[in-house]
Amino acid sequence: MNIPEIEFRPKEEIKHFQENKLKIALQYLQENSPFYKRMFLQNNIDIRQIKMLEDLQKIPFTEKKDLQLYNDDFLCVPKEKVIDFITTSGTLGDPVAFAMTDKDLDRLAYNEKISFLCTGTKPDDIVQLMTTIDKRFMAGLAYFLGLRLLGAGIVRVGNGIPELQWDTIKRIKPNTIMCVPSFILHIIKYAEEHGIDYRNSSIKKVVCIGENLREQDFSLNLLGQRIKEKWDVELYSTYASTEMATTFAECKFGCGGHHHPELIICEVIDNEGNIVENGGIGELVITTLGVEGMPLLRFKTGDLVSFHTEKCNCGRYSMRVSPVIGRANNLLKYKGTTLYPPAIYDVLDNTPYVSNYVVKVDLDENGNDEIIVCVGVKGIEKSKELIKELKDRFRAKIRVAPEIEICNADDLHKTIFPDISRKPIKFIDKRKK
Ligand SMILES: [Zn+2]
Repeated sequence: MNIPEIEFRPKEEIKHFQENKLKIALQYLQENSPFYKRMFLQNNIDIRQIKMLEDLQKIPFTEKKDLQLYNDDFLCVPKEKVIDFITTSGTLGDPVAFAMTDKDLDRLAYNEKISFLCTGTKPDDIVQLMTTIDKRFMAGLAYFLGLRLLGAGIVRVGNGIPELQWDTIKRIKPNTIMCVPSFILHIIKYAEEHGIDYRNSSIKKVVCIGENLREQDFSLNLLGQRIKEKWDVELYSTYASTEMATTFAECKFGCGGHHHPELIICEVIDNEGNIVENGGIGELVITTLGVEGMPLLRFKTGDLVSFHTEKCNCGRYSMRVSPVIGRANNLLKYKGTTLYPPAIYDVLDNTPYVSNYVVKVDLDENGNDEIIVCVGVKGIEKSKELIKELKDRFRAKIRVAPEIEICNADDLHKTIFPDISRKPIKFIDKRKK
């Protein structure tokens, strides 16, 4: 069913294959990208000297703020060639524009097709899309295009509205759901409250995006476990972003998102910008391949990951990306401990009476990180005891206890799943100046 042959080739062959693609990508940037043309000139970079993947280290990184400051200079085609206009959140406030040509939409469809194939999705499957397809997002459209190319059935329900989700499952009998994992807990809760026998529904599998399902050793994290305990569906994790225009999807062995060598080059770097070798943790840096509208070269994603390079049980040699450990700029320093927000999520995901939560971070008057966790629970009469109990849980798991506010779960739900966001908003960082 045309899974790309290159994913099953030995590591050295994949590297060589990528180096050929890199040459073409660099040539394209040199000819068409105002931003990179300028960068090559200012840094005396002769692209003919960039032959091996290691040579990429001679090229400066592209940062999120570059996208914001020089947004138009990243576009490599005349505006008339753009078909789909997209935005992604910028670091300086305003959204950043992304643009896709006809060819880019084909590439995106191909990317999702081979990513769904990786999760074992087949042409005779029916997939219910519980993700937003409009609102200037890339993802929902990408899933639609990819599944269409694969030949699978698609129901575009969009995010939210559990009632409509269950009505659709009853009527159309899809066997697969595509959504953010915490939304699964939400529709389970709805089913329980409305007497829907979800365990015997047509759904057999959930392909997830936007949140981790696994720990670094690939065992299910507490969110994954909580879903699995309630509902014995197959769970697949995927990782993607607008800037990458590429997906890393798990195969059935669930041990990291598989790399598609023909679509993207990946590096992991440390704080000083040096390459991290041998599976160490660092920030993911990507170079897109085959992108026409807004290709990126050595773009710092901000996501902390590690690479797994040993052959997968599925037969692929293509590298696998670990679950995202955190955002490089989301590091919290709290009462002498350094931690990333997922460590806080883990404690909350493992607390049965917590319906939902939002973690807020700000600076206190001394410039130190201040963490406030808003916890949504049903009924708030005994909030004092609850806060004490939660703080003890935090101390037991991560040694420190953040400030806790008890909130109404339904109100909090509106904060977590606002109409304008594709991913659930669980982390609000007010530290940025
Ligand atoms: Zn695999």
